Amino acid sequence: MPRRWKCTVCGYIHEGEEPPDVCPVCGASRSKFVPAESEDMNLLHDLIANFHPHSVAAHFPSGLVPTSAMFLLLYFVTGHTGLEITVFWLLLVVVAVIPVSLASGIYAWQKHFDGRRASIFFKKIGLALTLLLLGLVAIVLRYGQPELLIAGGWRTWLYLLCLGGMLGCVMLLGHYGSKLVFQWHGQHRA
Ligand SMILES: [Zn+2]
Repeated sequence: MPRRWKCTVCGYIHEGEEPPDVCPVCGASRSKFVPAESEDMNLLHDLIANFHPHSVAAHFPSGLVPTSAMFLLLYFVTGHTGLEITVFWLLLVVVAVIPVSLASGIYAWQKHFDGRRASIFFKKIGLALTLLLLGLVAIVLRYGQPELLIAGGWRTWLYLLCLGGMLGCVMLLGHYGSKLVFQWHGQHRA
């Protein structure tokens, strides 16, 4: 039974013991052919090879922090305690996801930017760590005093300051992230 070879450039399928010297369809060289026996495996492989975990993970904090700020604002407007409790739960989710986002970001830095020691990466890591720290402080404050927002005093202000700081962090992280995705490759093409 002849083997099947697939041109990775145009998708042409060649049948034979060996791949052709050049693809008859697109002219790609022999090295562009891969065994096509297990099409499903290739699909899965493609999916894994092109999957950007950081783009997925980073959207959780960058989406949830502004959402918490919005709920907090609605709480101040309506006085509905359910909204304030939601903010606390969202904070827990954000803090749980930050380590995953940070790890996937460091992985992307090594994989897609060769771990280049440019300041933008250190800024992003610093911002992520600040975000984590502010999130942890906010959770400890709110967990220790569920009536925090009504109580007033320095803890209330510190809590609000932490949330405001987190909002600033995710905005800057998103700003630097889009710089990396949309500008870096253009400016630093080898
Ligand atoms: Zn081809």
